[in-house]
Amino acid sequence: MQRPRTLEQALEVLARATSSARLLAGGTDLMVEFETGRTHPDVVFDLWGVKELRYVRAENGGLRLGSLSTCRDLLDSALAREGADLLVLAADEVGAEQIKNRATLGGNLGTASPASDLGPVLSVLRARVRLVSLRGEREVSVDDFWTGYRATQRANDELIESVFIPTCPRDERRGFRKVGTRRAQSISKVVVAMALRVDGGVLQGVRSAAGSVAERIVRLSTLERALDGQRPSRALVSDATRDSARVDARPIDDVRSTARYRRATLQRVAEGLILDLAGIEGAH
Ligand SMILES: Cc1cc2nc3c(=O)[nH]c(=O)nc-3n(C[C@H](O)[C@H](O)[C@H](O)COP(=O)(O)OP(=O)(O)OC[C@H]3O[C@@H](n4cnc5c(N)ncnc54)[C@H](O)[C@@H]3O)c2cc1C
Repeated sequence: MQRPRTLEQALEVLARATSSARLLAGGTDLMVEFETGRTHPDVVFDLWGVKELRYVRAENGGLRLGSLSTCRDLLDSALAREGADLLVLAADEVGAEQIKNRATLGGNLGTASPASDLGPVLSVLRARVRLVSLRGEREVSVDDFWTGYRATQRANDELIESVFIPTCPRDERRGFRKVGTRRAQSISKVVVAMALRVDGGVLQGVRSAAGSVAERIVRLSTLERALDGQRPSRALVSDATRDSARVDARPIDDVRSTARYRRATLQRVAEGLILDLAGIEGAH
């Protein structure tokens, strides 16, 4: 175990890392992997002491969140509540208080779990991930950062330094829903995030993403295309969400749920969210 204290030290030790090395932040995912034997790293770099990665600050055109920010940090930050309201809602759904105190934004991204609660929200909020190494830094959209099941485009010598969330349009309406086995402390069976504007009775800027319905977090592109520029009606929303659950989702049967249930639930949850956000009477 190596314990860098500054970002510079972390990048120096990482420069020699192989694909078998692991970064450790809060440890809420990694410790489970060690325990189950899924991960056998040759070296672990503990980032918890790199305090300069733990911040929330306003930046030109948006909000920058250090990768070591925990879910609790987000909940406690007035800046985050104002500039990334949906992310704060999702952070409140992550585990119990002990988990929130350790679960970091960088760790959530790094695990690249298809069941992440923060993932769909980050996608809908157009988040950009900043990766740094001794070679320099680069920023990629979160949709491109995840490349597959628990896979990302991070190179061995890079770490996630921060996430940038652009300021949301003033008139944007946003929502997040998670379906789990029980109200608290459960990994999602289906999780959906949505943002849209209603301009002169017409839906604009629809963005939606879901978790636990494919091998990675997915944008609901079929849904976005079907709704953008349309006057919302129950029939339109019902057809669009049914098509999206069929085309955008690639669910599987696993210990938490069945593919059939996930597809049906995705449709029902997305439909309810859109009806609520669009202000259509009798939304469920
Ligand atoms: C009981 C329990 C309940 C949970 N409930 C939820 C839940 O409801 N919703 C949910 O979404 N998740 C949940 N999780 C999963 C977990 O808490 C989150 O994914 C958390 O955000 C991971 O952050 P961490 O700091 O603990 O990551 P770690 O375990 O430290 O690391 C996770 C991965 O990210 C990599 N990593 C960490 N930091 C960086 C960095 N800065 N740069 C590059 N890579 C990095 C690590 O190498 C590792 O591969 C739960 C976990 C437990 C144990």
